[in-house]
Amino acid sequence: MAVSATARTKYEAVIGLEVHVQLLTKSKIFCSCSTHFGDPPNSNVCPVCLGLPGALPVLNREAVAMAMKAALALNCAINSRSRFARKNYFYPDLPKGYQISQYDEPLSQDGWIEIEVEGRKRRIGITRVHLEEDAGKSLHEGFPDSERKSYIDLNRSGVPLIEIVSEPDLRTPDEAYEYLTRLRTILLYLDVSNCNMEEGSLRCDANVSVRVAGAPAFGIKTEVKNLNSFRFLQKALAYEIERQIEMVESGESIQQETRLWDSREQRTYGMRSKEFAHDYRYFPEPDLLPLVITEEWKEEVRRSLPELPQSREERFATTHGLPRQDATLLTVTRTMAEFFEEVVKGGAEPKLAANWLLNEYSFLLEEAKVGFTDFPVASADFAKLLTLVGQKTISGTMAKEVLRDMIMTRKGPDQIVTEKGLQQINDTEKIAAVAREVIAANPKQVEQYRKGKTATLGWFVGQVMKATRGQANPQLVQDVLKKELD
Ligand code: ADP
Ligand code: ZN
Ligand code: MG
Repeated sequence: MAVSATARTKYEAVIGLEVHVQLLTKSKIFCSCSTHFGDPPNSNVCPVCLGLPGALPVLNREAVAMAMKAALALNCAINSRSRFARKNYFYPDLPKGYQISQYDEPLSQDGWIEIEVEGRKRRIGITRVHLEEDAGKSLHEGFPDSERKSYIDLNRSGVPLIEIVSEPDLRTPDEAYEYLTRLRTILLYLDVSNCNMEEGSLRCDANVSVRVAGAPAFGIKTEVKNLNSFRFLQKALAYEIERQIEMVESGESIQQETRLWDSREQRTYGMRSKEFAHDYRYFPEPDLLPLVITEEWKEEVRRSLPELPQSREERFATTHGLPRQDATLLTVTRTMAEFFEEVVKGGAEPKLAANWLLNEYSFLLEEAKVGFTDFPVASADFAKLLTLVGQKTISGTMAKEVLRDMIMTRKGPDQIVTEKGLQQINDTEKIAAVAREVIAANPKQVEQYRKGKTATLGWFVGQVMKATRGQANPQLVQDVLKKELD
C-alpha cells in the first residue's frame, strides 16, 4: 500500500479494544464442571454446559468475585444490581443457541487505565467490565475439502469470561499495545487469569477508524479479529489504518464490517459486512436472578486487592531509589516484584539486587532452563550472596559462578564459597608474593614499564589475577604492583 507521508499526517486513528479474559475459577460459571485446560475433548461437560433442555444455570460466586476484583483494579464503579442477558446466535460450538452474557445492566462500568507512551501519560477509559460464559471450540482437520472433518469440543463451553471494553480513546497502534500490556499485567497481578494468548485465555478484538486530525466526529469503524499476539495487534492496526486512509484519500467510503487478520499474508480481509450484521435479540435471562452485590461484599473484595503494578513501580523508584527502567522491569510480574522486595529485606543493596535479578540471574536461569517461578534460589540466599559481593568477600565474576552453582545444586552461597575456596584474597602480603613472582618472570615488561610505558601495569594486573584464579582483590593488586614496580 502506498499512502504518502503527508496523507498519513493529515489523519488520525481512533481505536477501541474489546478484550475477553478467561477467569481462573476451578469450575465453570453456571455448573460445577472443571475448567481445566487440555483435558480430553468433551470430558468436562454436563447437561448445563451442553445446553440440554431443562437444565438450569447456577451462578458461580467465585467468578463474580474475580470479575469484581478486575473491575475494581480497573477503577470501575460496581453496580449493586446487574443482570444476565441472552445473546442469541447460531454457531456449532454454542449448543444452547445463545450465550449468557450481560447487556444493558453490566456488572461494572466507567473505569480507566493509565498508559505511558514516549513519556506521555494518558488515561484510557474503560466503558464496562461484564461477565459472560465462553463458547465451545471447533477443530477443523483434513485437506482437501472432500477430506475435511470438523470436531466440536465443549470443555470450554461455560468457562467464565470477563469482557473489558475500552472507550475509543486510543490513537496509535503503540498506545493499543501499551494498553493491552498494562491490562494484562494488572490481571496477572490479581491472579484472576493466566492471560495466555496462545491458549486463548486472553483474546482481543480491535475496533479502528480514521478521521482527519482534529475532526469533531469519528469515522466509520471496522472490527479486526483473530489477533492472537500483541505483535499481531500492532501490525493489524497499522495495516488497517493505512488501508482506511488510502480508501478515504481516493474518495471511497469505509464499510462497517468485521475483518480478520491474516498473519501469513500480513493483511486484514473482510469476513462479514454490515448487511449480515448480527441482531442478537438480547433479552433478560429468565433462568437467573438479578445479580446483587452488597456493599460489604464489594469492600471485602476491595480489601483483597494486592498492591498494583503502577503503584509498586512508583514505590520502587522512590523508596528504593531505582532508575525508572529497573522499577518498570522488576514490576512486570508480581512474583519478580515480591522476590526483589524479599531480597532487599534480606539485607541486599537495592540497586545491586535489581542489577543481579534483571541481568545475571535471568541469564543463568535461561542457561540452566529453570523457570523463575521454580524459585531455585531462596530470596534469603540471594540476599546473602549479594551481601558477600557488597562486602567484597567475593568478586562479581566469582559471585556469578556461585549463583550458577546455587541454581544447579540448591546449596546456600556460604557453603559453595567455602567448598570451592572462592573467598577473595585481601591479604596484601599474599598478593605481594604473587606480584613479585610475576615481576621476576617478566623482565622485558618490567623494563618497558620503567621506561615510562605505564599502560603495562594493566597487563601485570591481568597476570596476577590469572595466577590467583581471579580471587585477588583487583584494587589491591594494582596498588601492590605499583609499589613493587616503582
Ligand atoms: P458496536 O455497537 O459495534 O459493538 P460499540 O459502541 O459497542 O460498538 O463499541 C465497541 C468498541 O468499539 C469499543 O471498544 C469502542 O471504544 C470502539 N469504538 C466505537 N466507535 C468507534 C469508532 N468510530 N472508531 C474506533 N473505535 C470505536
Ligand atoms: Zn457443565
Ligand atoms: Mg457493542
